[in-house]
Amino acid sequence: MKGNSSRRSFLAAGLAVPAAALASATRPETAAQKAKQPDSGSGPLRYRTLGKTGLKVTGMGFGCMITSDQSVIEKAADLGINYFDTARGYQGGNNERMVGAALKAKRKSLYISTKTGARDKKAALADLETSLKEIGTDYVDVWYLHGRSSGSQLTDDLLEAQQQAKKEGKARFVGFSTHGGHADVIPAGVAKKMDVILAAYNFTLEPDVTKVVDEAAKAGVGMVAMKVMAGGFRRVKPGTKLYDQLKKEGSMLTALKWVLKNPNVQTTVPSITDMDQLDEDMKAMTAPWTENDAQVLAEQLEYIRPLYCRMCGKCDGTCPKGVPVADVLRYLSYAEGYGQYRLGRESFLELPEEVTSVRCADCATCAVRCPNGVRVAERLIRAQELFT
Ligand code: SF4
Ligand code: SF4
Repeated sequence: MKGNSSRRSFLAAGLAVPAAALASATRPETAAQKAKQPDSGSGPLRYRTLGKTGLKVTGMGFGCMITSDQSVIEKAADLGINYFDTARGYQGGNNERMVGAALKAKRKSLYISTKTGARDKKAALADLETSLKEIGTDYVDVWYLHGRSSGSQLTDDLLEAQQQAKKEGKARFVGFSTHGGHADVIPAGVAKKMDVILAAYNFTLEPDVTKVVDEAAKAGVGMVAMKVMAGGFRRVKPGTKLYDQLKKEGSMLTALKWVLKNPNVQTTVPSITDMDQLDEDMKAMTAPWTENDAQVLAEQLEYIRPLYCRMCGKCDGTCPKGVPVADVLRYLSYAEGYGQYRLGRESFLELPEEVTSVRCADCATCAVRCPNGVRVAERLIRAQELFT
């Protein structure tokens, strides 16, 4: 592995670790975690069963969202990674096509998931047809409704589309993805008998999120984790203890290990852009969790606290000008955390004009209060400066 990997370019933070942060990263395992399902596999690969689907997935999957080098995806498949997540909207509409081309030779032995952002049955089914053409396949293994944050967004109409896709053999299993609102949308997904849920899940989240994830898994829903790196803010100042630690072990490795500590998460889809990251992330399936890892994540949590929006929804509706705070902060993290400026800006500009034209700098004080310590107005001003 290269020591100068971008994954390891860390900035800032003289970090005293508050007890609450350490507790968050070191909290005891839940009963479900203790009753751990056995992983199977040998060498660097470990497999878990994706809920009631029966699919044996590698604990580390592959999030293709920001991968531009097709050979990295091919290499991951060669190494035995078998779960790949895409969506057409990624990379200016080209991601599905690139993923399909990369995995063509191994299609039958791999699992591919994609998504639709459509809001009605007809549009969703049309979207699926396009996805199949783009990927170059007759079926996808998991077809998600994209970015749902409340049970009310899992409409009967869309569920009918998913069932029809299953009947026609175009989607083996169905589910939805969620960035926030877990406490509402995940139990709703369980009640509606979703096969798989792709949820933002990382070390910054409160224990109640782990609880709903555990309950969904217990009900037989396959659980896939995304946003495992908590926004990608990995920059810690060289010369600090945290920098040395992360350089030695790899920043993503520690965050991934935290997620895989929970046996109720069956696979993860970290964004991977180069061979160095792939090599580092592969170790998460077998590397043991240590007390030192807990300390590293606690320090990292303090570093990203003012920057990273957990999309908890607690500030929804509190901006009098209607700014969708969590969405804008997520787009900012695409640009600053993952280095995906274009994706961040394009996502921002899809918001209504009455939202994109707001300037937070014009407010004397911000009405939004974040209980998690995000400097909301400052971050929104940054997004508005970057994207408009
Ligand atoms: S800004 Fe804070 S309160 Fe609002 S969604 Fe993000 S983490 Fe939650
Ligand atoms: S500063 Fe706060 S209250 Fe003002 S527009 Fe921005 S988010 Fe809304």
